[in-house]
Amino acid sequence: MAKFTFKGGIHPYDGKDLSKDKPIIDAVPGDEMVFPLSQHIGAPAKPLVKKGDLILRGQMIAEAGGFVSAPVYSSVSGIVKNIEKRRVATGDMVESIIIENDGLFNEVEYDTVDDWTKLSRDEIIAKVAKAGIVGMGGAGFPTSVKLSPKEPDKIDYIIANCAECEPYLTSDYRRIIEEGEKVVEGLRIMLSLFPDAHGIIGVEDNKPECIGHLTKLTKKDTIISVKELKTKYPQGAERQLIFATTGRKVNSKMLPADVGCIVNNVDTICAIYNAVVLGKPLMERIVTISGDAVRTPGNMRVPCGMSYTELIDQKGGFKVKPAKLICGGPMMGFALFTTDVPVTKTSTALLAFTEDQVAESETTPCINCSRCVEACPAGLMPGRLSDMVEAHDNERFVANGGMECCECGCCSYACPAKQPLTQNIKTMRKMELAKRKK
Ligand code: SF4
Ligand code: SF4
Repeated sequence: MAKFTFKGGIHPYDGKDLSKDKPIIDAVPGDEMVFPLSQHIGAPAKPLVKKGDLILRGQMIAEAGGFVSAPVYSSVSGIVKNIEKRRVATGDMVESIIIENDGLFNEVEYDTVDDWTKLSRDEIIAKVAKAGIVGMGGAGFPTSVKLSPKEPDKIDYIIANCAECEPYLTSDYRRIIEEGEKVVEGLRIMLSLFPDAHGIIGVEDNKPECIGHLTKLTKKDTIISVKELKTKYPQGAERQLIFATTGRKVNSKMLPADVGCIVNNVDTICAIYNAVVLGKPLMERIVTISGDAVRTPGNMRVPCGMSYTELIDQKGGFKVKPAKLICGGPMMGFALFTTDVPVTKTSTALLAFTEDQVAESETTPCINCSRCVEACPAGLMPGRLSDMVEAHDNERFVANGGMECCECGCCSYACPAKQPLTQNIKTMRKMELAKRKK
């Protein structure tokens, strides 16, 4: 089979052996559950409940706050304790609904469908919107909006992002091995919305079991193909995946739909299946708990709203006090200062390490080796861009393509001088994006 890829990228130690062969286990939620009203890009959800209300598992507790927004559902039954600001993984304080879990898991009745092929396009999109599904790979963009491009006839490819290129993360791998049927059926549901589209399942070649399983499951699907991707970070980044699988290029001013593509990750596709076929809203997800400081690394099916502290306790706690905690992957995730924050729709992983390699490495002057240039998948000159940031030269930064950076971290990883390239570029991008919003 031909292998597909993109230019640039890096090959970091993947750490996947720590958790990839351990079956998904169910996390047991504790007494208090925290449901932030902003778990997505767009307007915060609006509460539908008040202090003292009795809640069922699967009940909508906050409705979408606008077109680009998503409702929030309770993953437990119990009583609303309060609506107040709580800290989330990014460190921000976010208005949240707090529910006292009664441990009974009394559930609403779900609107199941025997044959989803009889549903109209509008009915499917309405079910996805009502279920509160957002991009669960971390982006948090409402999926119903993504599935409603201006010109659906111009969509040629629906791409299932099964690359899972971030080191240590194995939740997609386990999902495909254990629930591959749902991934394929979810992709078929999405394909039914676009008359001319073909399905592509992109998987890195370090996951032969997934490639074999998905190939078998799609044997009779004439419009779905499994594409074997070279194992290289960031193979699963949206622009790199689109280029690797279709040869089409997306820049920072475009959406994937502008080049006829829609990309969704594994958990999101499963959530689409759950919403359309089982009538279930998005209220749980698979989270990888890994790193050399974790006693028993693995993957857990986690009810949204549960705290990371309870999660790590259920994995046997830490072997030693971690020097670094990361929410998400080590390349694109962010440092956590406390585990007393809730798992949300976009929480992919909790990683704990005995060493903080970034803090421990000393920065030395640039030696003009150009390794950052070779590693950059966006074809940029990260060292030069970083100099422009330090010189506060916004104009040159933009003129030299700084806004095309996807913040993958490859340049920082490749730099022998340990220059804070990604951090600098990220900061200037943020400032420019804020300026453009005004
Ligand atoms: S400049 Fe941006 S896109 Fe290029 S390697 Fe660095 S972080 Fe990645
Ligand atoms: S990799 Fe680091 S040392 Fe090499 S050119 Fe880039 S910034 Fe300079």
